[in-house]
Amino acid sequence: MSTPSHISIRNLSVHYGLGHKVLGERLVVKAIDDVSLDIPKGSFFGLVGESGSGKTTLGRAILKAAPITSGHVRYNDGEAEFDIANIGKAELKDYRKRAQLIFQDPYAALSPRMTVRDIIAEPLEVMGLTSSRDETDERVREIAAKCRLNLEHLRRFPHAFSGGQRQRISIARALVCQPKFIVADESVAALDVSIQADILNLLRTLQEDMDITFLFISHDLSVVAHTCDQVAVMYLGSIVETAPSRELFSTPRHPYTKALLSAIPSLDPDDRGRAQKLEGEIPSPANVPSGCRFHTRCPIAKDNCRVDAPAWRELAPEHMVACHYADETVAAAPL
Ligand code: SF4
Repeated sequence: MSTPSHISIRNLSVHYGLGHKVLGERLVVKAIDDVSLDIPKGSFFGLVGESGSGKTTLGRAILKAAPITSGHVRYNDGEAEFDIANIGKAELKDYRKRAQLIFQDPYAALSPRMTVRDIIAEPLEVMGLTSSRDETDERVREIAAKCRLNLEHLRRFPHAFSGGQRQRISIARALVCQPKFIVADESVAALDVSIQADILNLLRTLQEDMDITFLFISHDLSVVAHTCDQVAVMYLGSIVETAPSRELFSTPRHPYTKALLSAIPSLDPDDRGRAQKLEGEIPSPANVPSGCRFHTRCPIAKDNCRVDAPAWRELAPEHMVACHYADETVAAAPL
């Protein structure tokens, strides 16, 4: 039996109208375009793609921090359910306790004028989740210990900490309300490689201990490969492939996924010449190519790809892909 969905997304679009017209037509930026996706409860779910693919907008739409143009996002943690596109003010308050964001930049995310104790305590106080200062302090100490922060750190200001420690403070702030769902948006991208593994291990431990579902957004497939249970690959506002992590990295089906994987640096000198360089830039979401939106950069595109959008189909259990020729694109494992 498959794990129930914590987040169920159906035909979700986030479009922004630009103020000016080009050749008499008002431009529409299709940041997210008709996306459907299920994030299983208790999973560490990876969302990957180049910068400009729409990953951050999708994470924000799930958190009701980006306007939903059409479609649905349904949240169900087993205790509470929400229809995010149509959520009311009172429900949104409850939702904010259950779904939180860990920011990318641990330097910009923390107020330099607040102590670490106050930074972590703020969500509890704003949402009125504790009834006394002692109770707030108790909750802050508890989550600080879980995030491997020393209690003496709580009296200090953020500038006294390294990038890794600051990210642990950000994580403690996001988790202090005991959320059930977390969007971690490029949460290790600003850190040194040596610190990244430490933070990733911490996130996985917290996810298991606190029974949280994670949406882990990253442009770096090598980070996702060793962390996530399942992965969705996004290109120009659309999901092009999803699969269990091991399957995706051993048997990628979509040419875009293959190109991203082959760009991961290899320690094997024999592999270094095999990278499939992705030609050109990702097109503008205000001017999405016809047919398959990847056809302008796809190394195996054929004439019909310029006209016909590929159907979303299952090629192996839980391995879905949108490519006319995915059956022909099985590649050797790059990792
Ligand atoms: Fe490439 Fe065509 Fe597949 Fe799109 S449908 S990824 S253009 S082969």
